[in-house]
Amino acid sequence: MSANWAGNVVFSADRLAAPTSLDRLREVVADSEKVHVVGAGHSFSRIADTTGTLVSLRDLPATVEIGPDRTWARVGAGLRLAELSLLLHAESLALHNLPSLPHITLVGAVTTATHGSGDGNGSLASAVRSLDLLTADGSLVTLARGDERFAGAVVSFGALGVVTALEIDVVPAFDVEQRVHEDLPWDVLAAESDRLFAQAYSVSVFTDWRESFSAWVKRRTTDAPADLSWTGAREATEQRHPIPGVSAEHCTPQLGEPGPWHARLPHFRAEFTPSAGAELQSEYLVARPFAAQALRALKELGPVIAPVLLTAEIRTMTADDYWLSPFQGRDSMAFHFTWVPDTEAVRPVLARIEEALAPCSVRPHWGKLYELEPNDRYEHWSRFAGLLADLDPEGKFRNEVVDHHFPRTSD
Ligand SMILES: Cc1cc2nc3c(=O)[nH]c(=O)nc-3n(C[C@H](O)[C@H](O)[C@H](O)COP(=O)(O)OP(=O)(O)OC[C@H]3O[C@@H](n4cnc5c(N)ncnc54)[C@H](O)[C@@H]3O)c2cc1C
Repeated sequence: MSANWAGNVVFSADRLAAPTSLDRLREVVADSEKVHVVGAGHSFSRIADTTGTLVSLRDLPATVEIGPDRTWARVGAGLRLAELSLLLHAESLALHNLPSLPHITLVGAVTTATHGSGDGNGSLASAVRSLDLLTADGSLVTLARGDERFAGAVVSFGALGVVTALEIDVVPAFDVEQRVHEDLPWDVLAAESDRLFAQAYSVSVFTDWRESFSAWVKRRTTDAPADLSWTGAREATEQRHPIPGVSAEHCTPQLGEPGPWHARLPHFRAEFTPSAGAELQSEYLVARPFAAQALRALKELGPVIAPVLLTAEIRTMTADDYWLSPFQGRDSMAFHFTWVPDTEAVRPVLARIEEALAPCSVRPHWGKLYELEPNDRYEHWSRFAGLLADLDPEGKFRNEVVDHHFPRTSD
């Protein structure tokens, strides 16, 4: 892999490695002065990059072991969500939630706090019970819930070492139906966002930040029917894609057709290119008490945002305790942007959005594009810097992003 999925990051690695065993992975890490893992390469920031050896775990055994009480599973680090979902579903088990696409790896998703939507749902990272971390000195450290360093390690984007396996919570498989409700009035969203997002297991709003707002409602079939009649929105009678002009065939089935969790919670089907394909992305997370203020600020910026926007999505997530998670300590509203693939045109707009959301204690998605310095928005920032120095004193796993945010004290 020489570039990320979007093509905006050309990796600076001088060597690529795809070990087929843990022993071989250990040798690669020991032999490399600098090393970083790449998952499926779907991040838009340089977070997976390295100037040394770029390691893919794609060829490690794709193992999934179900715990005897069927509440957890142990998952090998190379697995993508699409593969993992099918293996779990075959056991009548499920992940509690999924992001918009199943093409990415579980570890790559967990370590950037990748999320779907739902007032009662944490990000994928919230399902992690323990992780096995191959550290710079070659030891394999298991960190589990309750261990002091666990909360620092789950969302850490490869900076502490190579995650070789994860244990995650799983739940009994469930069915979901999704419906798109169009022409949602802006005034209703602005005034009643809490009521709207509480309507179902997972609710997203897609918008152009001008006139068009639509609610994508994913309901577990065992839950009460969602009621959006009070909003004035109209239920779509044809399958939709979040980006106008892209084939809706690429999306998971809508129109209220029930189906398994893994074929409804993501917006995009595993067998197609997700989203537009040619694009950039950013996402900003604000604490729920700031939701109405953030909504109004972004609506005002609509004329600035719209010229470089393909689509935007608003989601909700519950709080977690991970030191570097954007959801740390706060239930959140997430503001996602899918941009035209033009970095120079997008960057000034990011600066405007960040300025507008600054009073809302905004935190960026680690895997997407941002300009701001988030350090003062995280109460455990310096604690993470300490963990980094302990586990990787020579800076083997440091890359440009890690150096930027956590400069070495000797630098
Ligand atoms: C079309 C599209 C849609 C998206 N939708 C969503 C969405 O709905 N919600 C959301 O939150 N995000 C979304 N994203 C962002 C994406 O989920 C994240 O960027 C995610 O981290 C990508 O996972 P990946 O497997 O491609 O990892 P990569 O991008 O390859 O890597 C991400 C990070 O994980 C680290 N990493 C990977 N494997 C390991 C390992 N074994 N050990 C240690 N570190 C590791 C890498 O070093 C890097 O720091 C989307 C991206 C795209 C392209």
